[in-house]
Formats: sequence, structure tokens, C-alpha cells
Amino acid sequence: MPKIDTSATPAWRWLACCGVKLLKEKDYLLLGARVWESGNDSLSPLSSPLRVREDRIVAVGPAALEGASEAHRLELPGRVIVPGLIDAHVHLELDPVLRTPAEQLAVPEPDRIAAMEARGRAMLFAGITTARDCGGGRHREHALRARIDAGLVRGPRLLCCGQPLTSPAGHCSFWGAEVSTPDEIARAVARQIEAGSDWIKLMATGGIFTPGSRARDTQFEQTAMQSVVAAAARAGRSVAAHCHGTRGIAAAVRAGARTIEHASFAGEKGFATELDESLMREMAQTGVWVSPTVNAGWGRRIVDEQGEPTDFFLRMSRCLRSQRAQGVRFIASTDAGIPGVAHPDLLDGLVAFAHFAALRPVDALRAATSEAATALGIADRTGSIEAGLSADLLVVESDPLVDLEALRDPEVVVFRGEWLDRSVRGGGPILADAAR
Ligand SMILES: [Zn+2]
Repeated sequence: MPKIDTSATPAWRWLACCGVKLLKEKDYLLLGARVWESGNDSLSPLSSPLRVREDRIVAVGPAALEGASEAHRLELPGRVIVPGLIDAHVHLELDPVLRTPAEQLAVPEPDRIAAMEARGRAMLFAGITTARDCGGGRHREHALRARIDAGLVRGPRLLCCGQPLTSPAGHCSFWGAEVSTPDEIARAVARQIEAGSDWIKLMATGGIFTPGSRARDTQFEQTAMQSVVAAAARAGRSVAAHCHGTRGIAAAVRAGARTIEHASFAGEKGFATELDESLMREMAQTGVWVSPTVNAGWGRRIVDEQGEPTDFFLRMSRCLRSQRAQGVRFIASTDAGIPGVAHPDLLDGLVAFAHFAALRPVDALRAATSEAATALGIADRTGSIEAGLSADLLVVESDPLVDLEALRDPEVVVFRGEWLDRSVRGGGPILADAAR
């Protein structure tokens, strides 16, 4: 594939390198590429011009050519442009190499801050232009968000949950937001809002990562979950509910959580051993979103050493397919930061997600773009390629609706109008190192 010709625009490289400072002077017209509109199941055979000015998409299609004589022109023959990706569940402060909460908490603070910056940069460079951070202990991800938004460091747009509300000694209680009474709930929610949280995270059930916690156990009565949702709603926030056990899923859905994280339908015998199709139908009817955190780790568990499907694959696949069959809406998420799940590896998660849930590439891509943006309440900012939205784009060399692998190491990542090609981003090994 020919390289992108920037020779006609001598100011281009300089503008790109200076990035944020010269944001106001950015005005460019992308020509010759096919643009994926998220409502369509396939790419149109025709290329479509796309104009970006400052940090916005100005126009797509013939309208992009109107009054564009001043814009820098970039020829992108044979390329495909898709929206930047969204990972709806990450933990920037967690190091995926460490196995236990005790090890995580022991990381020296300067190292942790540097690692969080490196993770954010690696995510952006891998094409993740937005991520929701689903919990940490000291609102460090909020501080990182501020540095990213100020242009001091590179990283995706972040939506932050802050400290997850949990029961005393419950899942992730080491992050400091144990609650049981309505007063404690109100205070803990207020603390997250004051710290600048965009979402409230509730640990509706136990989890795997916390010693002494059992994933299938419900941590709160439905009335307590309703208190969390109400306190969040008073501040204009929605609730992301971590739910493994089937009872906890039901309570969180009925309490009004907006996204159900994991939705493992766990019972006595483990994950996906208590599927409840009537609950799935109810979930579809209420319009709650499921963020199943299918990640690179799942991708490594599809077949065993003999090449046979694993029990895990068969169970989780059935769980996801049943939800789909009942009309449950999915968004893409990875739980990046948990052991073995590196922050930039959303694409591996998407490929696994398509496999487990029997999704077409276009469905997986929607779950990581337009659907995720809608679920997260940011569809007026990002998630699709429309005039007026943030210029969060990936330029790739083949059609990801045919093969999601086209999204790997995108030729160019555009974030808020800033053009990050491979020469700016560096090569693969840097991504791998930064993932740690
Ligand atoms: Zn998580």
C-alpha cells in the first residue's frame, strides 16, 4: 500500500508534532478513503471526503469539499476510516503483571503514576480514543484525565468512576469505599462526585480478585442498590454495576443500574452456570447495557492443548449467545489491568468477543464505537463519524468489517484532531513495553 503523501502540505509534519499548541490552525481534508458510517453493515464502495478542523469533524461526504480550499489535503487511497475505539471498562492504576491486591498496593507512587501515563499513551496509540476507568483507590485516574485534557500527556478521553462502592470487606474494599447504611452510601457517592467522577461504580456482587470475596455472592440488597442509583442520579450520574452472580444481576438491573459489568450469570457451580432467560429478556426490555469484559485472557481460553473447545468457552459462549438471543445490548470492555490483561489490548478482546458471542465484525466494532458511546452517554461527543463530533478516527489499511485484524496498529490514530501516525507513535515494541 502506498504511503500517505504529505508532501503537498509542507506545514503538515510541523503541525502534527506541535499538536496541541497549534490546535486552532488545524484544518485538513482527508481524500480517497472509504468512511464507515456506524449505521451501515458494510463500507460504501465509494470514497468519501472528510474534513477536520481543530478538534472536530466539520463534514463528511460532498459537503466536506465546500469552502475547503484553505484546508490541507491528504490523499488516503485505499484506506478505511473508522471511529476511534472505546473500552468501557479499564483500570488504569492496575498493573496487569501483578497478581494480587497486596502487590498492587505496594507499587511506589511515582512508579505507579509513570506507569499509568504509559498505559494511557499505549491505549491511545493502539487506537483506543476513549475509555471508562471503572475504579481505583485514590482518584489518580482523574488526575491523569486532567493532564491528558490539558495536553500535557497523551492518552484517551477518560470517563472515571473513582472508588467503587462495596460492602464492608467486600470486593475491592482495599480501594476505600466500604458502605452499608444509606448515609454511608450518600457520603461515598458525594466523595466520588467531588473528585470529579463521571460515573458511580457499584460492586453489586463479590469478585475474583479480592481474597475472601466470592463472585457469585450478592453484596447488597436491592434497596441499598436503589440508594446508590438515586444518589448518583441526584448528581446526574449513572451507575455501572459489577455483577457476577445471577441474583446480583437481577437486583442491579431492577435498581436501575445503566451498565452491568461482567454479567457472568454465576451460580454455585461457577460462571455461566445459572443462566436465566427471563432475566435476560427483562434486561433487554429495560435497555440496560451489558459490558461483558471479554478480553485477551478469554481469547487464550477458547481451545485446550488438544485444540478442543474449553469448558470455559462453551459455558461463556452460551451465556453471551443467550443474552444476544434475548435482545440484550452489548458494549465492548476488557477489565484491562487485571492479571494478564494489558491496557492496549482491546482489539484482542474484540476478536475474542466476536468469537464467544458469535458477532459479525461490524457488531463487535459497533460495540466498541457507536454503541459504547451511547451507553456511556457521550454519543454527542464521539463514537461515530459525524459532523460536529470530536475528530477521533482511525485510518486503517483494509476493511475491518471483513476482518477485525485491520484495526491492529492503525496507520494513523487521530485524537481530538491530532494526527498520530506511526512515526509519531513509534513501533510495536514500545506499545508492548508501555502496556506493563
Ligand atoms: Zn473491573
